[in-house]
Amino acid sequence: MRRSSKRPWGAEHRPLDPQRLRGMARTEEGPGGVSFTVRQVRNDARSYTCPGCNHAIAPGVAHVVAWSNEHLFGAEAALAERRHWHLACWRRAT
Ligand SMILES: [Zn+2]
Repeated sequence: MRRSSKRPWGAEHRPLDPQRLRGMARTEEGPGGVSFTVRQVRNDARSYTCPGCNHAIAPGVAHVVAWSNEHLFGAEAALAERRHWHLACWRRAT
């Protein structure tokens, strides 16, 4: 993951706890009341489809990637099925 030195990150984001923007994983309750591992993503050059709204997450937009901690087939299967969410969509879904 590359870090842009040009862009004053934070300017275009919602006010979030800076601790949470450092790409560290945390555990949260996700959709369906299931425990999820959630990680902040920034400056990812790829584009994803957000399962919360079915719209694209444009490259470079800060978002979260989340996967279940309670997957039927274990942690690896859960990781393989990780999804990228808009921050707002994740908040709304959880
Ligand atoms: Zn979304």
